[in-house]
Amino acid sequence: MITLRNVEKVYPLKGGVFYALRNINLTIKEGEFVSIMGPSGSGKSTLLHILGLHDSAWNGEFDLLGQPVHKLDKKKRFELQKKHIGFVFQSYHLLDDLTVYENLEIPLSYRDMPKKERESVVCDVLDRFAIVGKKDLYPNQLSGGQQQLVGVARALVAKPSLILADEPTGNLHSDQGREIMQLFKKLNSEGTTIIQVTHSAENATYGSRVIRLADGMMVV
Ligand code: ADP
Ligand code: ADP
Repeated sequence: MITLRNVEKVYPLKGGVFYALRNINLTIKEGEFVSIMGPSGSGKSTLLHILGLHDSAWNGEFDLLGQPVHKLDKKKRFELQKKHIGFVFQSYHLLDDLTVYENLEIPLSYRDMPKKERESVVCDVLDRFAIVGKKDLYPNQLSGGQQQLVGVARALVAKPSLILADEPTGNLHSDQGREIMQLFKKLNSEGTTIIQVTHSAENATYGSRVIRLADGMMVV
């Protein structure tokens, strides 16, 4: 599903450059559940944003679902992203001028789905995440944990084949965090490929493999 060859991310620095990622070679097969771990600043979020097609300023080669991302134009990358990827942002990135319901409807708008069906899919997800009562509120009327739940719900509402999650339980109580991990595990058993960035050893036990980063490099 994913192959990275010699991927690097470089930032210009006064008097030189800084490698946020260096020499990343990586294959992730369809159906895997992978955890990316490593100290703060080691490049985890940078790698996840590249995998999620949110960052296109890097060097190297990246094949995703048989497509050479490094050769695609912006429009093709956007289509690939909207069709196949659900992304949970560390800082939620909900749209502030849309309600919870409307935020959840967005990923479905990229699918050919009649309004009635969109309604029923969004209602199912609101139900599953126990946030039905919040559906007409705006993100700034929610607690951090509730915003995180909406962020996770938005990532999976359109049933993407790949879910990328940056610390998806960082702001949740441990029982809520476990529920999210169990949900990921279930989706994974149904075939969804999942890649999470996590500091939590407990969260990593839900996955089948750990990729460790240190100073922008993969370590074994
Ligand atoms: P953590 O992994 O601890 O949750 P983040 O992934 O948010 O933290 O950020 C890791 C480090 O990268 C932090 O030290 C942060 O200040 C730094 N950082 C993040 N974005 C930028 C940026 N655009 N420019 C400079 N530093 C950044
Ligand atoms: P992690 O998620 O592992 O905490 P990040 O991927 O957020 O780490 O950051 C990796 C490194 O890249 C950090 O050292 C961070 O300071 C650096 N970095 C991130 N964004 C920028 C930026 N815009 N300019 C310079 N350095 C950056």
